[in-house]
Amino acid sequence: MEQLAVFGGIPVRDTPIHYGKQYIDKDDVAAVAETLEHGDLTCGPRIEELERKLCDVTGAKYAVAVCNGTAALHLAAMAAGFGEGDEVIVSAITFAASANCVLYCGAKPVFADINPQTYNIDPHAIERLITPHTRGIVAVDFTGQSIEHDAVEAICKKHNLILIEDAAHAIGTKYSGRPVGSMADMTCFSFHPVKTVTAGEGGAITTNDEQLYRRLVRLRTHGITRRREEMAHPTDAPWYNEEVELGYNYRLTDIQAALLISQLGKLPAFSARRKEIVAKYDKAFGEMPELVVQKEIPESDTTRHLYILRINPERLKCDRRQFFDALHGENIYSQVHYLPVYWHSYYEKLGYTKGLCPNAEKYYEEVLSLPLYYSLTEEDVESVIEAVKKIVAYYRK
Ligand SMILES: *Cc1c(COP(=O)(O)O)cnc(C)c1O
Repeated sequence: MEQLAVFGGIPVRDTPIHYGKQYIDKDDVAAVAETLEHGDLTCGPRIEELERKLCDVTGAKYAVAVCNGTAALHLAAMAAGFGEGDEVIVSAITFAASANCVLYCGAKPVFADINPQTYNIDPHAIERLITPHTRGIVAVDFTGQSIEHDAVEAICKKHNLILIEDAAHAIGTKYSGRPVGSMADMTCFSFHPVKTVTAGEGGAITTNDEQLYRRLVRLRTHGITRRREEMAHPTDAPWYNEEVELGYNYRLTDIQAALLISQLGKLPAFSARRKEIVAKYDKAFGEMPELVVQKEIPESDTTRHLYILRINPERLKCDRRQFFDALHGENIYSQVHYLPVYWHSYYEKLGYTKGLCPNAEKYYEEVLSLPLYYSLTEEDVESVIEAVKKIVAYYRK
């Protein structure tokens, strides 16, 4: 049997690849340079243009550009009115920011388990967690796959809950033909370089509700308004503005907006290539009983941000750590998404204990994320598949 590189064998590839990487072309650079040379650097026309573009892409009525995805979640949680004494149900498998935004508002995140096949929040788990204190849900389109909107929205309607969709992974995804960003009360996006499109750092919230939109715009700039109808003491003085509530400076710059507008122009191409790569991986790994492929619900037309490789411990003599190390030895640098949020020691200190979400905990022990990004070449994809097959052959029971 072929020796794994970690044990002194020859690696499948001689240069490393990471699990994610941005793609920046000349048009992106030119857009940024043009803004630097001729434009306003902040609060300028690029922000409005970006917000219109985000409405086009998502089908939402309103979009608010902010400085990162975490700021988007924070403002959405504030606009939702979450506060002391409130409970907000959050997916257990997500980046910590999805739950941190609830804590920022003084409310309590309550973690819902995942569906063991799709890895998204399980609507049945949500139902079981509802109490008289439940005010909302932060549901993540994990890996880019849409949450089960029909089921989740029905729960929200029945119990009068606000739905915040954390779509940091999911720009470009559709659910039953409707784009992510047009369905929840508020949808939050991230434009960090590892995500499908990037602004360097950046985020946005989309909504169809004008009241929420106005509030988000105000909170983005210190809670200060220039709209007379929002003021306690309106005057006709042209300089006058009023802080009517406590907000933040969560603005995006026009420089970043210019980059993101240019990137959004490439979203169809990014999306198509990601789908192609996912199809190749699914085909290669779907036939191997040692591996588990993420299940897609038929309603989701997914632009995948992450490709999750799940090992089947019944069929392999190695654990996830050994698989991860072996891949690293083959020069494929994977990652793990994510630790169940409540396993972080900060959450442990808040009183959350292991055992809350068994599907999420089992999931975490068995997964890693393979390289998935626009500029992966066919050779790269083939080498990833070859490395995975080599490791499976080595550790097969
Ligand atoms: C990236 C990410 C965020 C945070 O976005 P930033 O732009 O890094 O602040 C939030 N939620 C999820 C699921 C993410 O992947």
